[in-house]
Amino acid sequence: MGDARLGRRHFRKLTSNEGAKREPREGAVLVSSRQVTIAAEPVTLPIVGASGRYHVRRVYCVGRNYLDHIREMKEADERDPPFFFQKPTDAIVQEGTVIPYPAATKDLQYEVELVAAIGRGGTNIPVDSAESHVFGYAIGIDLTRRDLQRDAAKRGLPWEMGKSFDHSAPCGPIHPIETTGSIRTGSISLSVNGTVRQRGDIGQMIWNVPEIISQLSSQYELYPGDIILTGTPAGVGPVVAGDAIECSIEKLGTFRIRIGPKLHP
Ligand code: MN
Repeated sequence: MGDARLGRRHFRKLTSNEGAKREPREGAVLVSSRQVTIAAEPVTLPIVGASGRYHVRRVYCVGRNYLDHIREMKEADERDPPFFFQKPTDAIVQEGTVIPYPAATKDLQYEVELVAAIGRGGTNIPVDSAESHVFGYAIGIDLTRRDLQRDAAKRGLPWEMGKSFDHSAPCGPIHPIETTGSIRTGSISLSVNGTVRQRGDIGQMIWNVPEIISQLSSQYELYPGDIILTGTPAGVGPVVAGDAIECSIEKLGTFRIRIGPKLHP
């Protein structure tokens, strides 16, 4: 049964079954063939200077968008067009969180990225008007199980296991574009335990935010609530349990998370 058939009427019927543990509400999903239901928690981010929160619909990421990072990874042609992947929305973690060291990896790596949050949807959005679709900007980290990503790439498999795991999308509060203006240049950096590991400039992006939105909207219909992580500069590397990560982007302040021990050692 496809999700499209899980209309509201049908959902109410499912939740009346034994095993439903929570109050039904919209956004809930069928999680097993035994008709157990679980209500998906809405994922939201704080909005700087406002009391409301930004409801996240999807998390898109751009691969390979800074030349010096492509060169350090030694795995792509520098003129490749941008490509996209997604992380699950519930992989978002908030400012100040201690993230458990993920399962199945021995090489968890950080990638600090500028996040563009969509406020107005569309398809085939022209570059010239793309920024009018931006609600605001934030600081995000594309956490990566690098060993799994490299192994998948080597075997011609999807990146998903390396990129789209639990807690893989830390994201800070959203600064409305009315307060930041366009972000085309400005410093972007990440430090681990006080030592700077990544330092670059937004102006080094191969594809800027309007170009990314235009390209992405030719492949997916964008909606309010879609956020886009726009790629990372050079300097990516590993972190271990106990490490404190601090990221900064000009105009967006500072964003901090910590890595904790594994949840299931
Ligand atoms: Mn990335």
